[in-house]
Amino acid sequence: MTYPVSYTQFFGSAFLGAGGEMTDEVVGFGQGGSRPIKLATQSYGSKAVRLAAMASAGLVVPPSVALPISACRDALTNDGNVSVSFQVDISRGVRGLQRTTRKWLGDKENPLILAVRVSPVVAQGGLGLPVLFIGWTEEAIALLPTIEKKQKAAKQLANTVRELACNVFHLDELLFDEKLEEAEDALEEGGRIDWLALYQAYLEIIKENTQESFPASPSDQLMLAIKAVWHSWDKPKAHTYRQLYDIEDVGGIGVLIQVCVPWTHADAVSQGWIAVRCENTGENKIFGEIYPGNNSVAPISLAENSRKKIAKDIIKQASIWETKSARAEKLYFIIADDKAFIIDGDPLPMSTAADLTFAVEMVKAGAVTKKDAVQRIDPARLIDILHARLEPDQTLNKLGGGLSASPGAATGRVVFSASTAEALKSKGWQVILVKAETTPEDIRGMQASSAIVTIRGGLTSHAAVIARGTGKPCVVSVSGAQVDAEEKMITIGKKQIREGDYITVDGSTGALYDGRCDLLPAEVSGDLSTLLKWADEFRRMTVLANVETPHDAEVAVCFGAEGIGLCRTEHMLFQPDRLAAMRAIILALTDEARRTAMTKLVPLLREDFIKLFEVMRDRPVTIRLFDPPLHEFLPKKPADVAELAKTLGLKQKDLAFTIEELSETNPMLGNRGCRLLICNPELAKTLVQVVFEAAIEVSRKLDIDIKPEIMVPLVALSREFIAISRLIDDAAQHVDHKFDSNIHYKVGSMIELPRAALVADRIAAEADFFSFGTNDLTQTTFGISRDDAVAFLTTYEQMELMETDPFVSIDENGVGAIIEMATIKGREANPDLQIGICGEHGGDPASIHFCERLGLDYVSCSPFRLPIARLAAAQATLS
Ligand code: PEP
Ligand code: MG
Repeated sequence: MTYPVSYTQFFGSAFLGAGGEMTDEVVGFGQGGSRPIKLATQSYGSKAVRLAAMASAGLVVPPSVALPISACRDALTNDGNVSVSFQVDISRGVRGLQRTTRKWLGDKENPLILAVRVSPVVAQGGLGLPVLFIGWTEEAIALLPTIEKKQKAAKQLANTVRELACNVFHLDELLFDEKLEEAEDALEEGGRIDWLALYQAYLEIIKENTQESFPASPSDQLMLAIKAVWHSWDKPKAHTYRQLYDIEDVGGIGVLIQVCVPWTHADAVSQGWIAVRCENTGENKIFGEIYPGNNSVAPISLAENSRKKIAKDIIKQASIWETKSARAEKLYFIIADDKAFIIDGDPLPMSTAADLTFAVEMVKAGAVTKKDAVQRIDPARLIDILHARLEPDQTLNKLGGGLSASPGAATGRVVFSASTAEALKSKGWQVILVKAETTPEDIRGMQASSAIVTIRGGLTSHAAVIARGTGKPCVVSVSGAQVDAEEKMITIGKKQIREGDYITVDGSTGALYDGRCDLLPAEVSGDLSTLLKWADEFRRMTVLANVETPHDAEVAVCFGAEGIGLCRTEHMLFQPDRLAAMRAIILALTDEARRTAMTKLVPLLREDFIKLFEVMRDRPVTIRLFDPPLHEFLPKKPADVAELAKTLGLKQKDLAFTIEELSETNPMLGNRGCRLLICNPELAKTLVQVVFEAAIEVSRKLDIDIKPEIMVPLVALSREFIAISRLIDDAAQHVDHKFDSNIHYKVGSMIELPRAALVADRIAAEADFFSFGTNDLTQTTFGISRDDAVAFLTTYEQMELMETDPFVSIDENGVGAIIEMATIKGREANPDLQIGICGEHGGDPASIHFCERLGLDYVSCSPFRLPIARLAAAQATLS
């Protein structure tokens, strides 16, 4: 006899959403096929919806009835009782299964055997196991033709009784284990357990301990099984699991009453799984195995036997499902009577590269739209493929860890100074710079290193910002570590690492490993660029880069930067020859000496800006005037002070005195940004003139119109901004006069202090653009130092006082509210004002969504985060 096996009851059949993609709302028809009902994940759980959709796509799935989550909720709030009308619904559903299979629940000659399975909204652990093989009775077992069949059915019955007794009557498992052990101990050599006798013994246990008889009727057992599954939702284990994995408590679960396959009680039942996608590459390939039921043979590979009839059928079903659902899934099946039934599916855990390949392929196959493809990739996961990462299959010896400040993995020899890093790199070594913290003087050594590790500092510390900008792995704030630069040694826990020893840094997780580890190289595949081009079609906000060197600018353009949103000019000055000239300017004793020193710096800087403009051509370039306090340009260690004194012909004592005079107790709140420029107008003027001159030269050379955008840092007063703007206008006039030109430029303000946000309307009236410096704005709004906050922020996050580190994702309620206020005030005062952000948050997906909600014009981030920002910005527009 053949059965209509691809028909799933669900009180009717289901269909797929428009475009062939499985939706969360599969519509079925009401009881008797007349009343339409919605079979949504929120109402019936994901498993029921998936199976219904599979059935509707033409897959062979076991006939099933889905019970809504609301039934479970009602029962749990009503002492486990269910209404009479609901019991009638269940009976109707079971009658549908009977009609489909032509078997009857409780019948002794032709019994219907059922399973009760959970169907939660989100798959979770800690719930009840399925209750299988409900429907056997002593009478039905007695009529089975062979002793083997009788024993097999009796074992199934005994186990069902035991399962229900433990879950519904709350009896101790041990009571049943003891009986089973007794039966096993009493066995003679080669003897077999008498399962029917054991079943009787189990019934006795129940009677003795509950004073009640276990229901003999399969319909009553079915109801007990449903209740057992419902109650599992409320068990402490399930609550703990939900808390642990942050799964919403929706108050209950859906239940599937499913016909046990095979309902013909075939002897040879095999099981298996199939996937038609490679988890690592995303290519269309067959994976999977069939486990023959008699356990006598090894698993059969589906790929190697793909021409066999049953394998062909399974592959066909899996392929149909993939195109219909547009999801890569691992399907589980049972083979009985030479027919393969799909019983469940799980999302295939694919690598990021595989997800991209799959998404692009699904668009090309017409299974999903470009919009769907753009929305299905988590931007944060792109980090995996934009940087080298650890080969997953290897033994790792973890030394310790800290904060993951810049992603990617690198292996190399430890060095403890920037100069050693440079020297050894020039000999061909891969080096990892380890320091208590880095300073601007370390730039060259950092560039020479494959990764950077600092014992102190937070996610916006110098090391972190430079590492992210240059795409190097970086771990900061390593816990339990001490570095001894003199002894050239770092101690992490009990382990001592000396100069030249190999370590491996995983900047994506913050872990440090002993020795060399195998790495997988970064891949920017064609699929990523295809997906990002699609993302750009939907994106509203402009995505800019935070860069200052021509090389980084080239990288940024390759990663899709539409311009530069933040060029930190002080980073240009930390190059050795520029640093020497800058030091001479700072330490000049007379105006004449200062002017001479400046003439040395100007050509070097002009060359830098010319190269930068040549790379960026007519894309917008925002150049921020010097930000850090002057003493940051001067050496700290006595040996370095002595060397500089010699170079400049100064007395070491005098130089040390000047450095001491310039140093500040709180440099972050000291004479930096526009304050420094107001006190040293010559510096600002010189810098702006150099920028304008370079822009004119490249405009003329390339026949384009470069319009530099000059940005003023750390503004608190509108008057500060006006003062610097005048200075910039004067510089423009001077340059125009000198070059007979008409330079076009814009002047904007960083909004990185709460006061600036409060007077945003006044500043906006004078400005062309605002750029929120969210690093400083977070620091000053919270009153916490971006370099020293790690110590307590970790505790705060553990105690859930803060959901995320505010230096990573914008604190929407506080800092975000300030940004919103300044945006509104700014736009009211100047409707043409362009507004964006350029702090580290510019590359953070959650913060990008926030910027989209505020209607900002752009985000600017470090080059290696550009793909993430492009995708996140597109998703933000679409959401
Ligand atoms: C900021 O404060 O957000 C910013 C971009 O400037 P910096 O990190 O250089 O202080
Ligand atoms: Mg700042």
